[in-house]
Amino acid sequence: MQFQLSEEHLMIQQAARDFAQNDCLPGVIERDEHQTFPKEQVKKLAELGFMGMMVKPEYGGSGMDTISYVLAMEEISKVDASVSVCMSVNNSLVCYGLQEFGSEEQKVKYLTPLAQGKKDNELYIGAFLLSEPEAGSDATSQRTTAEDKGDHYLLNGTKNWITNGNSASVYLVIAQTDPAKGSRGINAFIVEKNWPGVVVGAKENKLGIRGSDTHTILFNDVK
Ligand SMILES: Cc1cc2nc3c(=O)[nH]c(=O)nc-3n(C[C@H](O)[C@H](O)[C@H](O)COP(=O)(O)OP(=O)(O)OC[C@H]3O[C@@H](n4cnc5c(N)ncnc54)[C@H](O)[C@@H]3O)c2cc1C
Repeated sequence: MQFQLSEEHLMIQQAARDFAQNDCLPGVIERDEHQTFPKEQVKKLAELGFMGMMVKPEYGGSGMDTISYVLAMEEISKVDASVSVCMSVNNSLVCYGLQEFGSEEQKVKYLTPLAQGKKDNELYIGAFLLSEPEAGSDATSQRTTAEDKGDHYLLNGTKNWITNGNSASVYLVIAQTDPAKGSRGINAFIVEKNWPGVVVGAKENKLGIRGSDTHTILFNDVK
């Protein structure tokens, strides 16, 4: 088994280290103190191809391997964990799920701009909405419902501690479609933040990674 990092791995590690030192380090304490979302840093991450590192190039990603992703995460997390948590949610929790389980239409419409971190030249990132007030470690006890109405689903519920809650344009929402089936009646839905009935709730005033915007998100009859 080969344990050496390849030339490409070392280049990615160095690029991430340079980005962390040059773009994240300046102002990291101030952003943390003032809970400022690191928008410029995330835009730069997108330019580097770090918002969809393991996504296939045909869907706007960089087509890199997991080791490359880990190396970049390590370097950025050492300096600014608010930037790296935003990057990790977009890569691991949103893009991964869409690439593995999304339809072709979903991949073209959502995965491609998410992996590029931009749409129409604006920041375009995702959030993953699983946790609820009564469903943290025990995620299967969640109560958000998505009722099948024939030609659409009706989504109702509250999600908590959502990273990128206000800065994301797209939410991957986990909801109960068949409560009688318990954990086997849970599905994932793509919801755009600006759809009617989506409410961005309170922002958490956290002890750390304060530049990352962690919010409660509410769904009131979202179609
Ligand atoms: C900064 C931040 C960002 C987050 N971002 C997101 C996000 O983007 N999307 C999202 O969906 N969620 C997010 N979360 C929520 C996170 O996933 C939950 O906090 C986590 O799942 C734990 O749930 P909990 O906080 O309810 O703790 P609990 O589940 O109540 O756990 C509390 C403690 O009890 C322990 N414990 C729990 N169950 C057992 C058991 N059966 N046996 C023994 N010990 C147990 C746990 O290990 C823990 O120490 C975020 C949380 C934070 C703090």
